[in-house]
Amino acid sequence: MGSPSPANRRLGRRGRTPTMTLTRTIPVLDPRTGETEFTITAASADEVRATCASLRQEQHAWQARGIEGRIDVMRRWREEVLRRAEALGERDAADTGGVSTSWSQGFITLANIDGWIDDAAAVLERASVQRPSVTMPHVEVRSQLVPYPLVGVISPWNAPMMLGLLDAIPALFAGSAVIWKPSEVTPRFLEPLFESVRAVPELASVFRFVLGDGETGAAVTGSVDMVCFTGSVPTGRKVAVACAERLIPAYLELGGKDPAIVTSTADLERATTSVLRGAVYATGQVCYSVERVYVHRSIHDAFVDLLREKAERVEFNARDPKQGHLGPFIFAPQAEIVRSHLDDAVAKGAKIVTGGEIERIDGGQYLRPTILTDVDHDMRIMRDETFGPTIPVMAFDTVDEAVRLANDTTFGLTASVLAGDETEALSIAERINAGSVFIQDTFLTFGKSRTIGTNSFGHSGVGGSRTGPESMLRFVRRKALMTNHGDVADIQNDRYGVRQ
Ligand code: NDP
Repeated sequence: MGSPSPANRRLGRRGRTPTMTLTRTIPVLDPRTGETEFTITAASADEVRATCASLRQEQHAWQARGIEGRIDVMRRWREEVLRRAEALGERDAADTGGVSTSWSQGFITLANIDGWIDDAAAVLERASVQRPSVTMPHVEVRSQLVPYPLVGVISPWNAPMMLGLLDAIPALFAGSAVIWKPSEVTPRFLEPLFESVRAVPELASVFRFVLGDGETGAAVTGSVDMVCFTGSVPTGRKVAVACAERLIPAYLELGGKDPAIVTSTADLERATTSVLRGAVYATGQVCYSVERVYVHRSIHDAFVDLLREKAERVEFNARDPKQGHLGPFIFAPQAEIVRSHLDDAVAKGAKIVTGGEIERIDGGQYLRPTILTDVDHDMRIMRDETFGPTIPVMAFDTVDEAVRLANDTTFGLTASVLAGDETEALSIAERINAGSVFIQDTFLTFGKSRTIGTNSFGHSGVGGSRTGPESMLRFVRRKALMTNHGDVADIQNDRYGVRQ
């Protein structure tokens, strides 16, 4: 373990409440060198509880501000984020080894805040009811939206800033306080982000983070009123069980094994370009990466040849994180998982067309886009989430077979269909079990943010959508206030008080 740099000693300190005591330290590795860059101090369960107690105390005033008051505070925060937008991108890129959208994360955060500044009041207004009861017209029904006081956000390492803020920001607008436990693998972005939060004291009192590992995450689930978790299926299951024990809601955004179907009529140029990007972007470390491809047998060989040609032009960003297309594995053990999927596939008869070797450059671990053929559903690479730049391609003969193969999974996050025309693609898309299906392209998930809510199928997610206007309504309970404007019911001659 290396000694913490001054900057990151600050990170650890800022994660603590005044009552915190040091418990254990965790090394944070640089994905580009594999070296320990600094260490962080994990918050203990007692420290998490103390932070939660303080947030609960402060949440009353935050809720009492009302939506317009909270929007005013968030507008001020927006300015602080804007001031640090470049720095936020730099730190997120240092966390991820230089994923290209990382450099824009400051601006993506601004768009997230701006979106809710525009929409939050209207979303709450639309969810509010004041009208006579349909079944008892003399009774007037009013709704009151009551925020869950304290929301726990637990997020993974692959898009460290965005995946936590997707939940934290609407929760804050809704009137909740938020405690965030980001992945300990990628904590560098926290310093500039929470510097911006501290510049707005009203927000800082209801929005805090704790550093730590799974133990710290478990302490968060044990102390909050609801949880938004993004991560793997095994950890999601643990979180769901912990929340069930406490009878609190858990919203889970989990993994995927997302299929792409390419029909015989598809434009090969378009299909290969889109599948390549969808499968290898961010070194495949994206929950909605294309993880398996089904191509009509009549074009299978031509598809693989063209895909290979394009894949071999993809370059690492090893020399300069701002140049090239593929970065290192963010979390070193992920390279081992990918290697084990490749070994399993080859042992069972798959052929590697290109790529396939994990390369070490200056201590970082890289993998070129890796195309496999002769794959089948007995192989882990077609069943389990690989989370690497792998493109297993399987031939199909009929559309029914392609749909059956696409649906032969425990997951159902996203899928893609590339066909000769939109009508053909849509008719296939409607038969696929996934929360979003991208038509004539892959990787369109940003298109649904704030536009439409979706629910994942299978093990990819549980609970209400984190996109669309209703994603904010996850954070409020709806309470009915009912006034009787008529006579009270008489127990002796009015059944249930319903007027005849
Ligand atoms: P993990 O499930 O390993 O970890 C997610 C978070 O949970 C981390 O902060 C982790 O801390 C924490 N954690 C670990 N154990 C517990 C526990 N017992 N209680 C509470 N929290 C705990 O996921 P990864 O970080 O490896 O991220 C990759 C996964 O995330 C992939 O499966 C990917 O598909 C999924 N993902 C899903 C997305 C979606 O929107 N559906 C989006 C992006 C990623 P620690 O890091 O210390 O273990």
